[in-house]
Amino acid sequence: MSDCIFCKIIHGEIPSKKIYEDEELCAFHDVTPQSPVHFLLIPKRHIRNIMEAEMNDTALLGRLLYKAQELAVTLGCGENGARFVINCKKDGGQTVDHLHIHVLGGRYFDWPPG
Ligand code: AMP
Repeated sequence: MSDCIFCKIIHGEIPSKKIYEDEELCAFHDVTPQSPVHFLLIPKRHIRNIMEAEMNDTALLGRLLYKAQELAVTLGCGENGARFVINCKKDGGQTVDHLHIHVLGGRYFDWPPG
């Protein structure tokens, strides 16, 4: 989608610190990190949010979740764990309308969120 910043990152039109990329997925460091480890993992196909995923996307969503934990381990979160977050629409606090999972680690996160 032409005006989506994450699509622009995928296509190299705006800079990012990429961690991982394959034919379906892309991961890069969040530009405003909330913890020592904070990256975003996204599908390359423009899906606006998790509620717009379709039945046909279940394998992709499975890969997204699996790769999120694999990258978290690679980045040193294996022992203490991490927070995996998907914000969705207004009430979920989503600010970029391209499905993404936040992976946050390297510090303790309280529960419930504020
Ligand atoms: P959300 O509020 O869940 O939609 O999260 C969007 C995230 O994207 C925020 O944590 C932003 O800091 C992050 N973000 C926005 N623009 C960029 C960018 N150009 N590169 C990396 N992360 C970004």
